[in-house]
Amino acid sequence: MSLTRKAGKVYLTGAGPGDPGLIVEKAGWALQRCDAVVYDHLAPLELVVTLPPTVERYFAGKSAGRHTKKQEEINQLLAELAGQGKTVVRLKGGDPYVFGRGGEEALFLREQGIPFEVIPGVTAGIAVPAYAGVPVTFRKMSSYIILLTAHEAGDKDESEVPIELLSQAEKGTIVGYMGVKTLPELMRKLMESGLSPETPALVVERGTLGIQRCVNGTVATIADLALQAVIEPPALFVLGQVVELREKLAAAAALPLQGKTIMVTRPADQAGETYRRLRELGAEVLPLPVIFTEAAVDYQGWEKFWGISEGWLVFTSENGVRYFLRHYFKAGYDLRGLAEFKIAAVGSGTERALQVSGLTADFRPSKFTVKDLAEELVLNYTLGGIDVIRVRGNLGEETAEDILRGAGSKVLPLIVYRAGTYKWDEGMFNAFREAKVDFVTFTSGSTVLKLKEILGEGEFDRFIKQVPAISIGPRTSQVIRQCGGKVAGEAGAHTVEGMVEALIGRQ
Ligand code: SAH
Repeated sequence: MSLTRKAGKVYLTGAGPGDPGLIVEKAGWALQRCDAVVYDHLAPLELVVTLPPTVERYFAGKSAGRHTKKQEEINQLLAELAGQGKTVVRLKGGDPYVFGRGGEEALFLREQGIPFEVIPGVTAGIAVPAYAGVPVTFRKMSSYIILLTAHEAGDKDESEVPIELLSQAEKGTIVGYMGVKTLPELMRKLMESGLSPETPALVVERGTLGIQRCVNGTVATIADLALQAVIEPPALFVLGQVVELREKLAAAAALPLQGKTIMVTRPADQAGETYRRLRELGAEVLPLPVIFTEAAVDYQGWEKFWGISEGWLVFTSENGVRYFLRHYFKAGYDLRGLAEFKIAAVGSGTERALQVSGLTADFRPSKFTVKDLAEELVLNYTLGGIDVIRVRGNLGEETAEDILRGAGSKVLPLIVYRAGTYKWDEGMFNAFREAKVDFVTFTSGSTVLKLKEILGEGEFDRFIKQVPAISIGPRTSQVIRQCGGKVAGEAGAHTVEGMVEALIGRQ
């Protein structure tokens, strides 16, 4: 028997250019199973915040002009983590081997004898033009693509960009990465070497994201236009006839939330639908969960529950349903054991969670708060002497319990999950500080208070006073206002769709 530690391994992984949906399946698979992730600034944050809480996260971000971690430090970190026997995902923007120093990392790992595997990704140079309405090849118009890094075009390494060759590339497409600062210099040189000044040109900033911006021009005008539009990295440029296709192929109409950055604070494991829906409407999602949840086993509560064979089960959250059933099944029971219980539920997420487990609510209130649920249940049913199991998390109020007890029922509060403060890593703080947030969404009073805890009073105060909030309902709105915030919209229905409607109503 060998006592050596499990060998570590590094997956050099592409995360795609920004839209989290553009990660390849194999990379998603590696992420779900890894022990640690070392991620870049350009990797979509959503891919990281939705990871199981057990995954260690390391931000190796490089924003323009500021190197948070040096390449050698990143290499060392990878070696160290793999040396501890961990499976590591090195998550890089786009494709790991296209202008991302992924090749250097691979060489380093090979030299160190650390096993690694590369998982290619969708590179920005192809996907960003596509989202902007430009196919990078087109019959009779462009039969080759040149991907170049314009980084060094203006400085001493300029010989690395073959100006002469590029200026002949009339029948192809040139895509330049990292060229924001060097654009004027490069365009001038290309024209001097004979490239037609009329060649169509496009610059795309933050392509594939809701805050994507495009500037259209020609080789002669594009540098000035980009300057006027204050284009910032990450941005790339496209030169060639294919750019003209954009007129016909760019999205026909702007989406309702196009260009808006919306910060979503709800727990990441419940926020998938919110993220997707907002993105579908054109928004840029800033996924910054403030709460995480984990199973909590209330032994006394369960002991009492096992002794009860009929009554009401009251569910007020998706988590309540999930964690309740998880423990219930783990104890060896199946759904037949719940046959004598009636089920009351509030919220569409709660109902969906019941449905996927093969359960349906017998009672749902006409309004959407926990208090409404309790009040309407009392109005509609005789509860005197009946066991009512209120399945819940550790946070929140006792209102429902009080109302139900008031009606004479035997209330058993059963805590099945615990909510804690989500620990923001450097990458999350970085994303928060860099974003220009248009709206922040809060789905409970506790999300407001947790954000305050994470940011600290000073930063929270500045933020909440400045950024309009969208709230899920009156209780949450009250907490926002108490904290000095502005409620720009309140969901009519306490659902994701209700919040989305409140948001659109604010446009
Ligand atoms: N490995 C990455 C490229 C890393 S170099 C890939 O394959 O895509 C970083 C450069 O890529 C940026 O400076 C920018 O020129 C380009 N880039 C990456 N993401 C982008 C995006 N969403 N929109 C526009 N350009 C992007």
